[in-house]
Amino acid sequence: MVTIRSKKSIGFTCFLLFVMLTNSSILGISAAEPLHHQDQGLGENAESRDLKKEHEHIHEVHCSRERSRAAWEIVEKYLMHFVERERYEISRNCRLHPDNDLFRDQENHKIKEDVNEWQCGYCKKSFLSEEFIDRHFDSRHYNLLNFTGSKCLADLCGALHCDHVLGSKSPRAKCNPAAAARNRHLCESLADACFPVSQGPSASRLHELFLQQFCYAHTCTGGIKPFSKGGRKETSVLYFAASVLTLMLLPLFYVLVCLHQSETRKDTQELKRISRLGRKAKPM
Ligand SMILES: [Zn+2]
Repeated sequence: MVTIRSKKSIGFTCFLLFVMLTNSSILGISAAEPLHHQDQGLGENAESRDLKKEHEHIHEVHCSRERSRAAWEIVEKYLMHFVERERYEISRNCRLHPDNDLFRDQENHKIKEDVNEWQCGYCKKSFLSEEFIDRHFDSRHYNLLNFTGSKCLADLCGALHCDHVLGSKSPRAKCNPAAAARNRHLCESLADACFPVSQGPSASRLHELFLQQFCYAHTCTGGIKPFSKGGRKETSVLYFAASVLTLMLLPLFYVLVCLHQSETRKDTQELKRISRLGRKAKPM
């Protein structure tokens, strides 16, 4: 009787242990643990479900992340290499300063592993697209956005020609003179704040460049295109590979040319020797 009861209690304990283990493993998956690479197998459904849950907590930000990103990319491509060349330091009074971009810190914590693999630099959670990681930032890392001052880079889009880059405006759309004048005014005020002419020759040169690059195109008379000074040249992987290959093949080419030349020289010397011998043999 005692043995039967102890066997029963052992069985019950085992059952309890099993239930606890299964529960803990289930909880382990459903808890707010970050989704690392190995968890990617849970698939898009789990991720989108997760994001739906996050979406419910999305806070309202009256600044477009997409347009802010476009403005940042324009500044990076069409302005910053000129600024770097002049070794000019943009002050915080300039709205193009990185500290004045509401999303800069979050964008810097966006790790692109692949086209379909994005990782959050704060919590290491993985995402299948940029859209998902953006939504994750909006909900989970909202507290990291710095709202002090006017930091919405998207507000400068009119001056920086974001629509031109994003292709969001039809090229056949009628030009609005009032809007063009407003954008030009904003553009010129940016040039004045970022590159005050009083600060020396570098600032003056950059001021003029900024006007040519962004401001003069804000007109309805046409003819002037934005970014007339050109953008940063991107060194592609293909270009790099081609350069390396050329550098490797160049010595080989020279060796071949040298070999060919010495061969021809040898041949002509041989021909000369034969003709000399022939001439000598003729009087006989
Ligand atoms: Zn995160």
